[in-house]
Amino acid sequence: MSVNETKTFPISEIFGPTIQGEGAMIGTQTLFVRFSGCDYRCSWCDTKYASYAEEIKTEREEGRVTRMTHREIIDECIRLSLKSLPGLWVTFSGGNPALFNTYRLTRGLQAAGFKVAMETQGSRSLYSGSLHAVDHLIVSPKPPSSGQATNYKELRQVINAGRDVSIKVVIFDKVDLQYAAHIRHLYPEYDLYLSAGTPQDEMYLCSQAEMENAILRRTAWLAEEVCGPYHSSFPGVKVLPQLHALLWGAERKR
Ligand code: SF4
Repeated sequence: MSVNETKTFPISEIFGPTIQGEGAMIGTQTLFVRFSGCDYRCSWCDTKYASYAEEIKTEREEGRVTRMTHREIIDECIRLSLKSLPGLWVTFSGGNPALFNTYRLTRGLQAAGFKVAMETQGSRSLYSGSLHAVDHLIVSPKPPSSGQATNYKELRQVINAGRDVSIKVVIFDKVDLQYAAHIRHLYPEYDLYLSAGTPQDEMYLCSQAEMENAILRRTAWLAEEVCGPYHSSFPGVKVLPQLHALLWGAERKR
């Protein structure tokens, strides 16, 4: 057995089919492979169980992080797809899947009949072959409200590595909007998608109905800013609600 066949990835969850809730692939049917581990610690992260070190430790201790070989991941995707493979997407998410060399996994999924997308914040370009291999690369640089600083050199290398790339930015306030305008200025040739972010207290403390109202209110605010004071900063931008939060709130495996 080769080294590659025994190499394992830390996997938080594999689930679906469901739909992609944000960005260029919104509404697209997909399976998700959620990698455990992230080099960021965003203040409003909605998957802390796959990104914050102390939460990952608890997940591991409670058996919710599994080490899987690429063959095991492919087999699980085939099982979840009910073998209706052609055209079904598998989306690598996290955490940050770009921390791992997923080239062989991607090629294996594609050989099995899947299309593969990867979502990453664009902070690690080390495995550029993995970034290039996926059918669609969703780069989601994190704005100032996240508390993280963008490494623009790495971001450019990640974006340049992709074959088919879209960019999405989650917006919480006007400072984030200015950040997104800067990203638009740097990358006018790529589709840019903006969504109003959902604060954690709403996600976990409000009723679903209250949260839905709040999401729609904030999306209306974002649309009005983008079409009003900021309209010249965002040529061609698309504003979307966070569909997964609207439909399922903070539920896992959705
Ligand atoms: S980059 Fe994504 S997964 Fe990582 S901490 Fe930020 S929101 Fe969470």
